[in-house]
Amino acid sequence: MQDNEISIIIPVYNESENLDALYERLHKTVHSLTDRYQILFINDGSTDDSMSKIQSISERDSNVFYVNLSRNFGHQIAVSAGLEYCSAQCTVIIDADLQDPPELITELFAKYKEGFDVVYAKRNKREGESFLKKLTAKWYYRLLKNLVSFEIPLDAGDYRLVSKKVVSAINSMPEQNKFLRAQIAWLGFKQSYVLYNRDSRKHGKSGYTYSKMMRLAFDGITGFSDKPLLFVSRLGFVISIFSFLLIVYAIFAHFALEQTITGWTSLIISAAFIGGIQLLSVGVIGEYISRINVNVKDRPLYIVDATNINCSKENIV
Ligand code: UDP
Ligand code: MG
Repeated sequence: MQDNEISIIIPVYNESENLDALYERLHKTVHSLTDRYQILFINDGSTDDSMSKIQSISERDSNVFYVNLSRNFGHQIAVSAGLEYCSAQCTVIIDADLQDPPELITELFAKYKEGFDVVYAKRNKREGESFLKKLTAKWYYRLLKNLVSFEIPLDAGDYRLVSKKVVSAINSMPEQNKFLRAQIAWLGFKQSYVLYNRDSRKHGKSGYTYSKMMRLAFDGITGFSDKPLLFVSRLGFVISIFSFLLIVYAIFAHFALEQTITGWTSLIISAAFIGGIQLLSVGVIGEYISRINVNVKDRPLYIVDATNINCSKENIV
């Protein structure tokens, strides 16, 4: 186990119909690269029979391992669990739904052999995803890129290969709100990419609901940038100056010009405007505070129900 060359980690949430095909393709690809590898499924509280499928695959193939989480913790946490349990010189993170073609691992591995610590798979085309999802993802990553002070690769998901160095660096990052692609970008190291066409999901439906996606998007921004906080404080500053000038003018108009401005419209507009800005600002601050709250509690990130891997958490530093 100690000197596996490659480890493949796969978060699984209700992917029963994809698992056999995925395993076949993975096995074929990785087996042609090395004999020393492990395939590690992290079952993230699936409600279908994914877990029994994984178990039966692991009984047939001694290179296959699993970590069964006690409930659904979410994709990023499932991958984080995988990163703690895997052990190899390099690790590939891949989705279970066959949107990421396993055959690409050959190219990722070749780049790794050239000396790169991170090789991510950059999406050329994205098949079978809604127009809205593609558009919001595109805008979001461009926004994020402007907010953070390091390079985040555009159009790359979590499909990537990382070296052992990167795995232990990630495992030493204590935040509870994981946003792995940005964490890996933040780490630096020698990074490269290969291009691929992202297929549509073979079976089942996306486990990423809009609310999960929103949470991930906020985690990405709050985890890596303070600019939203700066923005609202500057906005507050500008509006305060404007309001102060308005007050001076109102007093001046009342006493000096003796023409008190009547009118409900101006009052209600300004009250609603300020009210809106205040709620927005409190909301932004709230997003940061809720994350502080989660981190202060310092709970374990996930709970493991069962696993057949015995070098548990050897990567935690
Ligand atoms: N996934 C998971 N937990 C979840 C949601 C998804 O482990 O709560 C897994 C899922 O099985 C898949 C990967 O994460 O292997 C990507 O999820 P999905 O395909 O649903 O996301 P999308 O491709 O639609 O963004
Ligand atoms: Mg998918």
